Amino acid sequence: MPTGDPPLTLRDLAGIKVTNLSGVGEKTAEKLLALEISTVLDLIQHYPRRYLDRTRQAQIADLLPGDEATVLGAVRSAKSRPLRGRRTLTNVVIGDGTGELTLTFFNQRWRERQLKQGMEVLVHGKLKLFRGERQMAAPVVDLVGDRTGRIIPVYPQSTKADLSTWELAKLIEEALRRSRVRGFDDPVPPEVLDRFDFVDREAALHGIHHPTSMAEMQQARRRLVFDELLRVQLELVRRKASIEREASGVAHDMSGELVDCFHARLPFALTEAQRRVNAEIAHDLSAEHPMHRLLQGDVGSGKTVVAVTALLTAVQGGYQGALMAPTEVLAEQHYLSVRDMLGDLSVPDPTSLLGDRPLRVELLTNSVGATARRQVLDDLIVGGVDVVIGTHALIQEKVQYQSLGMVVIDEQHRFGVEQRAALRDKGESVGVPDVLVMTATPIPRTAAMTVYGDLDVSTLDEMPPGRSPIITSWAEGPIAESGVWETVRNEVAQGRQAYVVCPLIEESEVIEVRSVEDAFVELQNGELSGLRVGLLHGRVSPAEKEATMAHFREGSIDVLVATTVVEVGVDVPNATVMVVFDADRFGIAQLHQLRGRVGRGEHQGLCYLLGDPGTNDGKARIEALVASTDGFELAEVDLEIRGEGTIMGERQKGRNDLRLASLRRDKEWVSLAREVAIGIIADDPELADHFELGAEVDLMLGDNEAEFLMKS
Ligand code: ADP
Ligand code: MG
Repeated sequence: MPTGDPPLTLRDLAGIKVTNLSGVGEKTAEKLLALEISTVLDLIQHYPRRYLDRTRQAQIADLLPGDEATVLGAVRSAKSRPLRGRRTLTNVVIGDGTGELTLTFFNQRWRERQLKQGMEVLVHGKLKLFRGERQMAAPVVDLVGDRTGRIIPVYPQSTKADLSTWELAKLIEEALRRSRVRGFDDPVPPEVLDRFDFVDREAALHGIHHPTSMAEMQQARRRLVFDELLRVQLELVRRKASIEREASGVAHDMSGELVDCFHARLPFALTEAQRRVNAEIAHDLSAEHPMHRLLQGDVGSGKTVVAVTALLTAVQGGYQGALMAPTEVLAEQHYLSVRDMLGDLSVPDPTSLLGDRPLRVELLTNSVGATARRQVLDDLIVGGVDVVIGTHALIQEKVQYQSLGMVVIDEQHRFGVEQRAALRDKGESVGVPDVLVMTATPIPRTAAMTVYGDLDVSTLDEMPPGRSPIITSWAEGPIAESGVWETVRNEVAQGRQAYVVCPLIEESEVIEVRSVEDAFVELQNGELSGLRVGLLHGRVSPAEKEATMAHFREGSIDVLVATTVVEVGVDVPNATVMVVFDADRFGIAQLHQLRGRVGRGEHQGLCYLLGDPGTNDGKARIEALVASTDGFELAEVDLEIRGEGTIMGERQKGRNDLRLASLRRDKEWVSLAREVAIGIIADDPELADHFELGAEVDLMLGDNEAEFLMKS
C-alpha cells in the first residue's frame, strides 16, 4: 500500500466489504450479516458489550458461598442427565489450578457441545455450596479462546450469528491492524478535541476494542460517544438553521386586538408559563421566517389556550388558522371547546358596515355531512372561515385556503413527513405557514434535544392553580378491586362519571374488541349493574363513536368502558374516576395520559390501576404512577426503565447512530454536543469548511436515518 494514501475516513471504511479481510470467507460473511455487519465500518463499530478484567478475577479456592465473582478456568468435563418431566441438567466442571467448580444448567444440553474439555472460559455467577460441592447455577459464560491481555472485550452476539466473541475480537483486531498504515482521519475540529481533552479517533477505536486499562476504555468511550451525539446534533441543527433561513414565511402583524379580547374573556388568568410561551410564539410569528416550534406540556397544563392564541394572532392580521388533530373524536372536541372559548368574538371586516363580523370557526372531518362540508370548503377559499379544525382531512388536496398563515398540529407523533409537506403547500399563495406542534407526552430535556432537535421547544411547566393532584392507587387483588367498583358507584351517585379502560391488544384488534366487549357486558351485569354504561372502541363506526362521546359529555352515560381511544385529550370535566384494567400492560406515558382524563373539573380526580404485573418493569411502571403526578418526572423514570431505544423509536424507524451513547447516562454530553454543533453551524451552515464531518453526518444519518429527524 502506498504510504502517501490519506487517513481512512468513515466513508472509506463503509466502502470496504468484510470479505476483504483475510479469514473472512463467504461463510463468515454470512454469519456477520446476521449481526448486520457487512462492511469494515460496521465491524469496527460493533463495540464490546462489556469487558472482563482479568486482574480482577477471583481464584476458585478463595470464593465463599454467596460471593458473586468472575472466574477463569479450563473445562474439565461436561455431562447431562435427564430429570423428571423431560428436563435435563447439565453439569460442567471447570478448574483453575486452585480448585474446581461445577456449573449447572437446566435444559441447555447444547452446553455439552459448547464447553469442550480443555477450553478456557470465563464464568460469572454466584457461588453456592451443594452437598459440599462448589457450584454456580446458570452463570454467564464467555469463551476466551486463546486470548491474552489483561482486559478482554466481550462482544454482543446472537445465537443466529454463531460467532463467538473471540472470533469477533479477532476480526476486529485484523481490521484495526490493517488500518494502521493509513490511520484514521479525524474530522472533529482540533479546538473541540482540545476543549474536552479528547483522544484522537485512532486512539479511541483501538481503546474501545482492546484497552490496556479500564481508564483507557473510558477515554475511548467518551470520545466515541461524543462523535455519535455530535453527528446527530449537526444534522438537527443544520436542518433547523436551514428552515430558519427560509424567508418565505408570513411576518404576522402583532398589533390587533383580537388576542387581547380573547384573553380578557377567559374565566381565568393565564399562568406564568402560558404567558412566557405565548411570548416565545409571538416572537416567532412576527418574524419573516416560518415558525417551527414544539409545545410540550403535561396533561392539563393548558396547551389549548396557547394554541388558540397563536391561531388568533394569525387571524387578527387577516390570515387563516388551522388546527389538526389525530382523530375525529379529538377534532370534534377541540372544535367544541375552542368555539366555547371564543364565544362571540369578532374580527375586523372592511366590507362590513359595522367594521367587523363574527369570528368564524368550522369543523372539517369526514363525518361532517356533504352539504356542510361543501360550504366550509367554499368559504375557506374565499376567506370566510377564520379557523378550521379537523383531522388529516384538512390537508387533503381538495381543501384550499385563501391565506393559511398558522397551523397547529396536536399530538405530533401521528403525523409524518408527507403531511407536513402537504401543509407547506397549502400556504403557497401567502408563504409557508407557521407551525406549532403540540405534544402532551413530555420527554426529558436532553432527550428532547435529540428527538426534537430540529424544532424550537416551548415548555408549559406549570399547572393552572387550584387543581388538586389526582389520587392514584394500585388496586391489587379481588378485595381491592371490589372497593374500586364501590367507589365508582359512589361517585356516580354523587353525579360524577367514570372511565374504565381496557388494554390495547396490539396483536389483534379482534381480540381487543372482544375483551372490551366482555368487560362491558360483565360490568353492566355485575359490579356496575343499574348504572348507565357506554362502550367505545376502535371498531365502532365514527357516527356511533361520536354519539357515545356526546352522551358521555352530556352526562347521559355514567361509565364509559373503552379502549385507549380515550387516551388523548378527551375532556369531560365531570368525569372523576379512571379505572385501568391490566395497567401493567401500558407504558408510563400512556397511563399518565389516561389519568389526565379525570380531575379536569372542580372535583377530586381518582385513578385506579388494576393489575397483577408479571414483570418487574410492569410493577415499576405502576409504582411510578402511584408515586408521582408530574409528567416530566415520570418521563425521567420512563427513560430509566425503558432505556432510550424506545424514545428514539417513536420517531426513528431506521437504524440509529447511537450505538454507545445513552441519552440517559450521557446527558451532559448531549448538551455539550448540541452546543458544539450550534457553534459549528453558525459559522458554516452547510458544513462546507467541515467537509468530512458533513460527509460523515450524511453517511451515518443518510436518507433513512434523516427521515426520523423530519418526523414531526
Ligand atoms: P392540555 O391540552 O394541556 O391537556 P387544556 O388546554 O385542555 O390542557 O386545559 C385543561 C383545562 O385547564 C381546561 O379546562 C382549561 O380551560 C383549563 N385552563 C387552561 N389554562 C388555565 C389557566 N391559566 N387557569 C385555569 N384553568 C386553565
Ligand atoms: Mg388538550
